[in-house]
Amino acid sequence: MSLVKVLEVVKDLHSANPSLSSFVDWPKNLTSNEKSNVNIPATDLVKHFELKGSQHTQPLVSAVKEHAQFANWQRTYTEDEVGLDFLNRYGYYELIGTNGHFHSDDLRAFIAYWGEGLTYDWHSHEAEELYFLLAGSALFKTERIEKILKTNDSCYHRSWESHSMVTFSDPVLTLVLWRGNGLEILSTMDKK
Ligand code: ZN
Repeated sequence: MSLVKVLEVVKDLHSANPSLSSFVDWPKNLTSNEKSNVNIPATDLVKHFELKGSQHTQPLVSAVKEHAQFANWQRTYTEDEVGLDFLNRYGYYELIGTNGHFHSDDLRAFIAYWGEGLTYDWHSHEAEELYFLLAGSALFKTERIEKILKTNDSCYHRSWESHSMVTFSDPVLTLVLWRGNGLEILSTMDKK
C-alpha cells in the first residue's frame, strides 16, 4: 500500500492554507521513489494517536494514522544525543523530497510526531522550515520568539536558525516543509 492518499490530502491542505501555499509552491511532476515501509516504536503511537485535529487538519490526521505502517519511518538522532525515551516516542517520514516517498528536488515535506513530555533540544539546518501543527500542541523556541503552537498554527525557521521544541501533556503531530538551499542536509544538534 502506498502513501498516495496521504499525498492527496497534504496537497489539498497545502492549496487551502495560505501559510503553507505561500511558503512553497506545490511541486510539479512528483514521481514515486518506491520507499519500503520501516516501522519504529512511534509508528504504533501515531496509529493510535487520540487527539483530534481541526476541521481543516483532521483529514490529514486520519490519513496519517490509517497509513502509518506503510511509511518509511526515520529518526535523525542517536541515543547519545537525545536519549532512549525520546527515540522511543518520536519519529518522522519524508513524504516528499530528494529521498521521500515522492521525489522532488524543490522541497521536502515531512510528517513528524513527538510524544508528550519530550524536549527536542536546540538544533539547526540550512533549509528554511515551516512547521504546521495538525493536532496536539508544543512550545516552539528560537532566540526571537517563544510560543505555544496548537492545531492550525505554524512557525517559521530561517536558514541555520537554531530552534528547540518542548511537549507538555499533549503529543504533537506536524507537517514540516523545507525549502531553499541545503534541502538534502539533515538537521544537527547544536554543539554545547
Ligand atoms: Zn527544524
